[in-house]
Amino acid sequence: MLVETFIRKQLGLKAHTVTKVEEIEGDMIIHIDRLGKRLLRCGLCRQRCRKVHSVRRPREWRNLSMRKSVLKLRYRPRRVECPRCGVRVEDFPWAEPWARVTSALSNAVASLARELSWQGTARQYGLNWKSVATIVKRAVQYGLKNRSRPPVHVIGIDEVSRRKGQVYLTVVYDLERRVLLWVGDDRTEAAVRPFFTEEMGRRRCHTLQVIGMDMWAAYAKLVKEYAPQAQILFDRFHIVKHLNEAVEQVRRSEMRRLAQKEKVAFKRSRWLLLKNPWNLSDDQKERLSTLVRWNTPIVRAYYLKEAFQMFWDYKQPKRAEDHLEKWMRSATRSRLEPFKKFVRMLRGHLDGILAWTKHRISSGAVEGMNNKIKSISHRSFGFRTAEHFIAAIYHCCAHLPLPIER
Ligand SMILES: [Zn+2]
Repeated sequence: MLVETFIRKQLGLKAHTVTKVEEIEGDMIIHIDRLGKRLLRCGLCRQRCRKVHSVRRPREWRNLSMRKSVLKLRYRPRRVECPRCGVRVEDFPWAEPWARVTSALSNAVASLARELSWQGTARQYGLNWKSVATIVKRAVQYGLKNRSRPPVHVIGIDEVSRRKGQVYLTVVYDLERRVLLWVGDDRTEAAVRPFFTEEMGRRRCHTLQVIGMDMWAAYAKLVKEYAPQAQILFDRFHIVKHLNEAVEQVRRSEMRRLAQKEKVAFKRSRWLLLKNPWNLSDDQKERLSTLVRWNTPIVRAYYLKEAFQMFWDYKQPKRAEDHLEKWMRSATRSRLEPFKKFVRMLRGHLDGILAWTKHRISSGAVEGMNNKIKSISHRSFGFRTAEHFIAAIYHCCAHLPLPIER
């Protein structure tokens, strides 16, 4: 088989053909021409057109490389007279209308960019960073337009910090399918509203049953407005995070107060207090029991935290509520300001906290997604613009379909 025929079959050409393959300065140039009088298609609506309006200057498309040599397609695009759209550039079976690379190459690049950083992907294919960014953004645009949208029942709304907590994004997960649904630039009400109005729409908002979120976010108001039937659940992951912060605040203010000798004993005690007691070794248990004998505010904080955690195991709503009430009373009496603050926060969100016994959302789902987004941010040294970061998050977490190669 001639190499020309081989390439024509590889590219799936029907109205075009390969006329010549030649090497120019190490690059393999594949010359393409129209095949006889076969009808070309309109680049906009893809309908077959009878008339060719004009022939344009040659254009080049980069293709997947063959070993070390770069393959380029060269062709003089025709402009066709489409009965529906008027005079348009023809449709290219090997590439999207806007693209300067073939669909085969852009799909290969897009697939690798799910695993590697954009810099790494660019290096692998001998492209520059900007080309990879363009390919990923186009792939995401295509994927968002063409992805399936099954009914959603359980979602999690969360914020993700960008550039060390200076800027925030809002992410929404489908917690049943464990897939990212939406990313918004910022965490304000105005920034998140489009999720309900545009991405979901009124009909799909009606199927929402449980919505997990953090107590401190502005999202609850939007849920009441667009999905009033859904139960808000302040999820375990975030509540435990606030609880750990309270322990940490007590520890820090105590450390400032303690004498040098006691400080040495407390050194590196933080992780002992944050760890589950059944995960401690004998030596660690010994150190912990020394701390406990001192009965300092740190130890009181530690026990309050342990007592709170029993809440998650109750199966009957009434018992869970009793436990929480009892716990909040003792935390209020503890004379620990961070815990009093934590109790005030709980009191303001009781309904959404007690909902836990009925709708258990695994904290692993939210945590796992957040970690994945963090790793995307890290491997790219932090995206400088929100636009690029958002594209990368969609690309790696939303399971979007890639354009189909024709
Ligand atoms: Zn057309």
